[in-house]
Amino acid sequence: MKTRLAPTPSGFLHLGNAANFLLCWLWARTQGGKVVLRIEDTDTTRRRTEFVESLFRDLEWLGLDWDEGPNGPTDAQCPWFQSSRLRTERYVEVIDLLAGRGDLFPCRCTRKELSLAAPQVARIEEDAGIGPLYPGTCRGRKAGDAGASDAWRLRLPECPSSFEDLWRGRQNLSSLEALGAPVLKRGDGCIAYHLAVCVDDADQGITHVLRGRDLLPWTHLHKHLHGLLGHPAPVFGHHPLLGGAGGERLAKSAGSTSLRSLREGGVAATSVLGRLARFLHPKAPVVAEIPLDELLGWGIPDPGTIDLPLEFE
Ligand code: GLU
Repeated sequence: MKTRLAPTPSGFLHLGNAANFLLCWLWARTQGGKVVLRIEDTDTTRRRTEFVESLFRDLEWLGLDWDEGPNGPTDAQCPWFQSSRLRTERYVEVIDLLAGRGDLFPCRCTRKELSLAAPQVARIEEDAGIGPLYPGTCRGRKAGDAGASDAWRLRLPECPSSFEDLWRGRQNLSSLEALGAPVLKRGDGCIAYHLAVCVDDADQGITHVLRGRDLLPWTHLHKHLHGLLGHPAPVFGHHPLLGGAGGERLAKSAGSTSLRSLREGGVAATSVLGRLARFLHPKAPVVAEIPLDELLGWGIPDPGTIDLPLEFE
């Protein structure tokens, strides 16, 4: 068994990220599994070195180690930094394979054109509960018509999808088409998250993808992509999300309390672990502080399905 910690260094990590890392790490370590650290920095415009440096310090502070991954923030050329593989043959080969089979189409719609078309897709968007969908403008274009700066989008078939979630049971989507036409390669040549995540999970032998429930609709897409690429899909588990004390969603972009500020403010890692113990084992007694090795002794985490507000003064 192999899980991965997959931080995106587009901001300082918050308690929700720590909760996810702990869950993945404990899942593996309580069952003799391996842990991979992969830095998901495909969006090089949002990546900042200080975020990368800080995430390594956060992991060390929490006591989380890994079996495969970078040696540190200065190891940025290694394959566990997605940015170092962005334009490599591996991803290009996969794009060429999918484009050659007609699974992708080239798209030259601008952001402005897409936002003007948005009202037409609002209904489908509501149904799927996911981000802005594609209005279909370039869907009829063939691979041979592609310009050098076109994006490549995936053609999704009209067919139902389902998978068994580790904690939530069977998840069904009436049609994959409800996910729009996700971009797999951007116009600037960068590989998009959806493709990188599937190729890397397969290449790195990840057997268990454990992540927040906000990504659940996209798992139908990832499962479909694994199928197109002939990979066995990993097991997927979507855990509840941690909210702020006022019920708001934790987000790097919303300025949620960062692990860095707790760490630099002198908060002990054991007290962060104590707060997060409720998320990992909702049925266990509440503790104020707990060392990592003791938490390991509590056994396989079972976060359930209910979102949890987390106060941290
Ligand atoms: N890098 C993503 C994030 O930080 C995680 C993606 C995943 O687990 O598939 O939200």
